[in-house]
Amino acid sequence: MELHPLTSTAIEAAGYSVDARLLRIKFREGKVYDYADVSAELYRRFLQSDSKGRFVRLNLAGRGTEVKPQPEVDRPLHFAEPDDCCGVSLFRAIASGRLDAKESWTHKKCGAEWRSTLRADGTILWTPVTIIKFL
Ligand SMILES: [Zn+2]
Repeated sequence: MELHPLTSTAIEAAGYSVDARLLRIKFREGKVYDYADVSAELYRRFLQSDSKGRFVRLNLAGRGTEVKPQPEVDRPLHFAEPDDCCGVSLFRAIASGRLDAKESWTHKKCGAEWRSTLRADGTILWTPVTIIKFL
């Protein structure tokens, strides 16, 4: 939903969806609230009110649901040296996010240990440190 800036001491911006009858308000202290089942008429009165913060307190108090910002996932890119044995399991573990904060990973099937190295560009390279050869 697009929020439009408002001249109000308490409210920074607001947006309204006619179809959803939803009013979204971003307060200057940073929090965003959704108000469900708000008529277009109520929204119009909100926009025209002298004190929008007061209008919300009087007409919409207790009806808001806080909209939590989506956490930004900043997962580094992982690379692994190609490997016939461990490759699939390692990439599966990487994709699940389990290895994001790990420095080593061991392939249970063969016992090979892999270590992660943080590269200068912020990506992570996984390389095997023990190679077990089957004769
Ligand atoms: Zn392996």
